[in-house]
Amino acid sequence: MKVMDYMAQHGHEQLVYCSNPEAGLRAFIAIHDTTLGPALGGARMRPYASEAEAVEDVLRLARAMTYKAAVAGLNLGGGKAAIIGDPHKDKTEALFKALGRFIHSLGGRYITTEDVGTTEREMQYIRPETPYVTGLPVSWGGSGDPSPATSFGIYRGMKACAHEVYGSDSLAGKTVALQGVGKVGYGLAKYLHEEGAKLVVTDIYPEAAQRVHEELGATLVEPEAIYDVDCHIFSPCAFGAVLNARTIPRFRCQIVAGAANNQLETDEDGQELHHRGILYAPDYVLNGGGLINISYEVGRAYSHDAAWEQVTRIYDTIGQIIALAKADGICTAQAADRMAEARIAAARKVKNLYLG
Ligand code: NAD
Repeated sequence: MKVMDYMAQHGHEQLVYCSNPEAGLRAFIAIHDTTLGPALGGARMRPYASEAEAVEDVLRLARAMTYKAAVAGLNLGGGKAAIIGDPHKDKTEALFKALGRFIHSLGGRYITTEDVGTTEREMQYIRPETPYVTGLPVSWGGSGDPSPATSFGIYRGMKACAHEVYGSDSLAGKTVALQGVGKVGYGLAKYLHEEGAKLVVTDIYPEAAQRVHEELGATLVEPEAIYDVDCHIFSPCAFGAVLNARTIPRFRCQIVAGAANNQLETDEDGQELHHRGILYAPDYVLNGGGLINISYEVGRAYSHDAAWEQVTRIYDTIGQIIALAKADGICTAQAADRMAEARIAAARKVKNLYLG
């Protein structure tokens, strides 16, 4: 990959190489676009096979954060950090403090938070080095685990989809096939159960599935059988690229609405769902609740009520995306991108007017 060409093609502003051998730090920070505000995105720790793999990942993820923040109506841009290392073996306080100093050197252009392979604990290590960190525990004035807000946002967006397809946003009596009942999926299952939806659930971790069966009366199926369930809504809450040429022909649902990131394997899969008359709630719109919640830590004292009030509005955003898709004759995934790009372009125009 030619990094500079890739950055120019996809609109990235900056890529920072972070090295501190004494602390065992090898990391990259990518800032995609700061038109709407400082770039916020998690610090991901993974045993990347190569530096090139980490660079590719961090650039791709930073760009996705720009779109997520833009459609959520936040005054934030997109960024990400990728740390090369095994989160089970290589996490030390020194490593995260060293990363914190690099983050601080960017003067607030990048704000970090937890991500795959990192937790609140590491954010606490970073905090003495820089104020540009979120995802701190409630006892530190932060917003804590983002998963409950993510679950709530998905529930709200799912209701907006039901309103479009069934003429009512009630989920009572609707069958929802849920793939993955971890932190987000379990929280979502509780909202759905409360409202009277029927749950068909799978998880590769048997205890997680069993808990939903015992507590919420969910019917359990094997992981591979979830794609064939006759249901109203399929909700992928486990992993990405789950909407593809192999799974879509098997679907017997009218709506796809779940938490997983990057659900579409290719752009064509979004079109295919559209052609089959299946309403797809774009993943980064629907799962933006966690980001919205965390954004309330930036530059102000965190307020749970204010944050959750904004998460509620994912319902309206999904409605706007459906309306835009219909008006422009495009699929919902394209409509979400178009909405994000329009907001950024409008903000850039205003900035250019004033800054010359
Ligand atoms: P999690 O790890 O707590 O839960 C994922 C669950 O999926 C686990 O119980 C796991 O056993 C299960 N699973 C994995 N592979 C599976 C398979 N093949 N079939 C069935 N189940 C399988 O993660 P989470 O925090 O609940 O996040 C779920 C998804 O939502 C992830 O893709 C994550 O990136 C995305 N997401 C999470 C948040 C958040 O706030 N946690 C925010 C945005 C997006």
